[in-house]
Amino acid sequence: MRRLGWRLLIIAGLTSAILSAAHAYNIGSNGAKWPGGVTTVYTNISGVSRSGISWADAMADAARQWNEKTDFTFNIVNEYRDPCFGYSSGQRPDYLNGSDFRTTQCGNTLPDTTLAVTLYFQEPNTLGSADIVEADIVFNANLSFDVYDGPLRNGSNGRAEFDFKRVALHELGHVLGLGHDNTRPAIMNARIGSLYELQQDDIDGVNTLYGGFNNCPNTALNFGWRNGQLAAGDCRVQQLIVGGSDTSFVDVYTLDITENKRLNIDMRRDGALHGVLLLADEKLKILSIAESRSGNCTPALQADVTPGRYIVMVNTYSSLGDVCAGLTNTGTYRLSVSYSTPGLLQLAGKQSFQGGVSNARFSGGVTRDGGKTFTNRVTPTQRFDVIGQIEIDPQHQGQAGFLVMAAITSDGETLVKNATGDFVTYRPDIEAVPVAERRVFSAIERLEVLKNFAAADINISSISVDFLIGYGLDSNPNELYFHQQAINLLVE
Ligand SMILES: [Zn+2]
Repeated sequence: MRRLGWRLLIIAGLTSAILSAAHAYNIGSNGAKWPGGVTTVYTNISGVSRSGISWADAMADAARQWNEKTDFTFNIVNEYRDPCFGYSSGQRPDYLNGSDFRTTQCGNTLPDTTLAVTLYFQEPNTLGSADIVEADIVFNANLSFDVYDGPLRNGSNGRAEFDFKRVALHELGHVLGLGHDNTRPAIMNARIGSLYELQQDDIDGVNTLYGGFNNCPNTALNFGWRNGQLAAGDCRVQQLIVGGSDTSFVDVYTLDITENKRLNIDMRRDGALHGVLLLADEKLKILSIAESRSGNCTPALQADVTPGRYIVMVNTYSSLGDVCAGLTNTGTYRLSVSYSTPGLLQLAGKQSFQGGVSNARFSGGVTRDGGKTFTNRVTPTQRFDVIGQIEIDPQHQGQAGFLVMAAITSDGETLVKNATGDFVTYRPDIEAVPVAERRVFSAIERLEVLKNFAAADINISSISVDFLIGYGLDSNPNELYFHQQAINLLVE
């Protein structure tokens, strides 16, 4: 991750003359791209082509083609915006992507061999490359255009008459961050040709550029602790974002959120690691950053999140030398992932002992206030309850059955609640399905996993425990229905 900012201007054109060859699909200027893989284009260029199709419709069609075939999204707005606004006077972006015909390149000479140019504004990206913040298209008004498929053709005057739509497709490729590719069939060839639709190479280029977190190995993050290490051989920011000069290491995690909650991720460093925590959406749009906690140079991230998949990244600064000088950009760390929410947590995933499938739904949580709010993080002396709730499969309601409660500790121990209410070591060789309680099932069964408990009572000051709850029927005593995502308890 970087600290400093800058802004720059780049121009890329499509030409009717041959340019030098490049390798297969080419990411444009240093991997600069739109945060979140989306931007708005204003397509209402006035005028109609000789064949009767308006420039505005052709422009919108070209943008739609990128939307349909790639991970990128152009929000298409049928309004006009001046593409040259900001370039000629003071060079400040208006953050609006316009397009139009012009006889010059916003004041600079537009050669007759150049069909169109795309002009960019960029700003620094948190991860070290650049975000495109504006891209405008200027079509060469000195040349003739129509809208048609197939080979290039001449107009009635015998001069070349270029297909506007394939030029628009090409320039929109620059808008979203692609460079030229002259080695394979591609709309992004530097020279216009008979191709008039997006090619696989164009599509691959966009999907690499906006492939996001899939460019690095990633693992699922759950509530509780996660030990990690930034070290030689790790993925680098440069690989993650496909460009830029940031070679710092990055660990990438996915975090699935099932309901609105406040998310907390604290990093504890074991050595001299100067970590940075970043929370992003699936397209690596940064949502929250935690740099360091005052005094000890370890980050603590807090964010209010809605349901969906999030990306959590552990990174360092690409150049150190700040208030935490002396720390390094490699080393081990431990994340504490916790939450607070007003309601019980829906527990994702279903499992069973014998492969049976149920329509049961499981939820649970840790509460310090008798069930008004839930969290997974408590101090050793705080008293809390662990509550589980099962919406019993309608087909199982009214039947006699049993409840099971298990705890898997961060030390790797599996405990189960016995009929007298104590958690004891699980002995599957003696009792495969360790019954805690027997009930005739209603629609909703509430389970008291732990009641009015404090870790200090049993001399524990720091532990992570994953609780699982399940149920089965007396008529099928070896089958147990339970969930995948645990009810986590973090004592620290
Ligand atoms: Zn080009």
